[in-house]
Amino acid sequence: MSAFRTRFAPSPTYYLHLGHAASALQVWRRAEEQGGEVLLRIEDIDTTRCRPEYTAAIYEDLAWLGLRWPQPVRVQSEHFADYAAVVETLTARGLTYRCFRSRAELAKLPDPLRPGAHSAREEAAYLEARAPFAWRLSLHACRAALGARWDALTFTERTPRGLHTRAAEPMKEGDIVLARKDSPSAYHVAATHDDAVQGVTDIIRGEDLIDAPHIQTLLQVLMDWPSLIYEHHPLLLDDDGQKLSKRQKSISLASLRADGMTADQVRARLGYK
Ligand code: GLU
Repeated sequence: MSAFRTRFAPSPTYYLHLGHAASALQVWRRAEEQGGEVLLRIEDIDTTRCRPEYTAAIYEDLAWLGLRWPQPVRVQSEHFADYAAVVETLTARGLTYRCFRSRAELAKLPDPLRPGAHSAREEAAYLEARAPFAWRLSLHACRAALGARWDALTFTERTPRGLHTRAAEPMKEGDIVLARKDSPSAYHVAATHDDAVQGVTDIIRGEDLIDAPHIQTLLQVLMDWPSLIYEHHPLLLDDDGQKLSKRQKSISLASLRADGMTADQVRARLGYK
């Protein structure tokens, strides 16, 4: 086996659909071409939306498609302490800031205080409603901390024409949320941390995440994690040219299977033998 290692990292917020199948088949095909391996990772950090039955369905659907992966599978909800430690490290270095509600959310709250016009209780409620609830990465502070290294941030992209070096522009993603008061990690921290600790070398995923390497490269440099090679494939569209959504129950793999479609038929429909 070569040093090539990639991963398929679904979020169990609903059943997988044909778009996930297309993505998974692409990931496993690339690993096969490169003589490498695919890890399966369950990205269930959003504890309000993820459900164990969807995780179980992911295992079932992927196995049904004929895909195999090494055990144990990394399940992100079992590693919140690791992600919190990353946020603490960045915070200790002065690279994060506490962030308040968005302007839209503030606009929905009761009127601003008029001095002397409210009880102590109302004042306390007003301030509590505006209390810090998330930690964001300060790109301004990162830029100051990295100095000349900021301008030299690059990542490698795999395209049909080969590997290309691209300048990373973290500003494209802005001051991303790293963690929230009620959730110790947001996507970029958990995914970039896990890619590093799992020894992932290559990422293959949908082009909805095409800007993610800009910020993930910055996190790698800040945390001294290895840089990766990124490939983003087009998303599968439905007959109307719309993105397939997990909410369209009709095209979940589970429902296709229940309707009698075989895994070979799904593979053939997506252009795989
Ligand atoms: N968990 C993400 C998703 O389901 C994928 C993240 C990634 O591949 O980096 O969209």
